[in-house]
Amino acid sequence: MPDTTPDPAQPPPTTPAAAPGPTTDTPTGTLPGPLTGRQRIVIVGGGAGGLELARKLGTRHGRKHDITLVDCVRSHVWKPLLHEVATGSLDANLDELSYRAHCYKWGIRYFYGMMEGVDRTRRELLIAPLHDIDGSLLMGRHRIPYDLLVVAIGSITNDFGTKGARQNCVFLDDRPAADAFRNRLLNQCMRVSRAALTGMPGEHEVRVAIVGAGATGVELAAELYSAAGALRQYGLEHFDESRLKVTLIEAGPRILPALPEKLSHAAQTELERLGVRVLTGTPVTEVTDTAVITTTGEAIPAELRLWAAGVRGSAVLENTDGLEVNRWSQLVVRPTLQTTRDDRIFAIGDCCSCTLPGTDRAVPPRAQAAHQMADTVYFNIRRLLRGRALRNFVYRDHGSLVSLSRFSTVGSLMGNLVGGAMAIEGRLARLAYQSLYQMHLLAVHGKLKGVILILLGQVNAIIRPRIKVH
Ligand SMILES: Cc1cc2nc3c(=O)[nH]c(=O)nc-3n(C[C@H](O)[C@H](O)[C@H](O)COP(=O)(O)OP(=O)(O)OC[C@H]3O[C@@H](n4cnc5c(N)ncnc54)[C@H](O)[C@@H]3O)c2cc1C
Repeated sequence: MPDTTPDPAQPPPTTPAAAPGPTTDTPTGTLPGPLTGRQRIVIVGGGAGGLELARKLGTRHGRKHDITLVDCVRSHVWKPLLHEVATGSLDANLDELSYRAHCYKWGIRYFYGMMEGVDRTRRELLIAPLHDIDGSLLMGRHRIPYDLLVVAIGSITNDFGTKGARQNCVFLDDRPAADAFRNRLLNQCMRVSRAALTGMPGEHEVRVAIVGAGATGVELAAELYSAAGALRQYGLEHFDESRLKVTLIEAGPRILPALPEKLSHAAQTELERLGVRVLTGTPVTEVTDTAVITTTGEAIPAELRLWAAGVRGSAVLENTDGLEVNRWSQLVVRPTLQTTRDDRIFAIGDCCSCTLPGTDRAVPPRAQAAHQMADTVYFNIRRLLRGRALRNFVYRDHGSLVSLSRFSTVGSLMGNLVGGAMAIEGRLARLAYQSLYQMHLLAVHGKLKGVILILLGQVNAIIRPRIKVH
């Protein structure tokens, strides 16, 4: 258990906090003062970026400094796999990592709690009260003192204030949302299968509307067809892909805007071949509990509605004692990945907005960006501990890959590295896509366990059911 203090009216933290950090804008790369002695390094958010950073710091500095990882859930599932969890293509129980066991192994303290803000004057992370499932209080409001803080709490889906979207859509932000979507999907498939079996009037189709045709929406649409095909083998004899009706709705002129036009057309052709109705240039004005309504006035009926149209920062980032946030509540950082108003606070991954010198757009919210930012902050924290100047983050766009389930994979490799994207499709793209997750496993578990887990994953793909049907 980290050195936390209940709030309010608690005694001062047992380890004396160093002098308060600067509260005004500071030039890039300045140091917050000498960092002598044992430092309390707190990482909040153990996702694609935070978990990799925690493991690295724990391995190298776990004995000399207090490294604490805070997360509001007890286990980690790599977020880019959530669409597979949602359709049952992946059994998250096999792929999840227990924070407590993992942190123990790597010399990190783990604190189960939800960040609700930062008190920069006292250098404390504010943790919300924790309740049991019956509503009783498990742990009161807490404060975790830090000398260095890394905020890595990811993003939430941005509904852009669209009427009814929050109440009537699933947002694929976390594991519970993916599990809930899968349960509703299975129930709906069962209803349709029963109606077909008994010949009784009832629902004859599973209608799914997906808003947003970026990678998440496109990947989910393809996974749904793969799952529907598999369900027949697992007892729903009267259900197959022909009873699935997926509509993918995109406001922009084409799907997968991050990919070259040729690949976005190839992906659309493949989706349409599967049976997906693809609507582009079609903004959504409202979502009800039965349909998605577009600007053309069309109401697209759907039992399952999923919103995958954009990302924004969590509301807790507005409660960070004056740290700069952009219009989507993401923490604004300098090229060193320190927040603009506090040298002791870094932010990485989807929760930060980082516009690098010479560019006019922020680094995109992707797992590869979170992974690279974790590396930079690891080196910068080591530099701070040695009193050296910090390095600027350099984003290397290795390209974007989109999996159309077992049907196809499309993408562009190397992005800005070779002065232009190299379009790839098929088996090569599939291997490159899988390597993203494999890199995460290696970064989180180290080489030996990482390789074992990669091999185990390949064995599991052969021996376990094609789809999680519970
Ligand atoms: C379905 C889907 C598919 C995707 N596919 C790809 C892909 O193919 N390639 C790619 O590059 N990117 C992909 N992405 C985007 C990618 O998942 C994110 O960019 C990446 O996970 C961001 O990493 P992160 O560390 O910033 O946040 P996350 O990985 O989201 O981790 C955030 C962590 O913070 C914790 N947390 C949140 N709030 C709090 C709080 N208040 N207090 C404490 N803990 C908190 C969460 O529990 C979580 O563990 C995909 C995303 C989705 C949803």
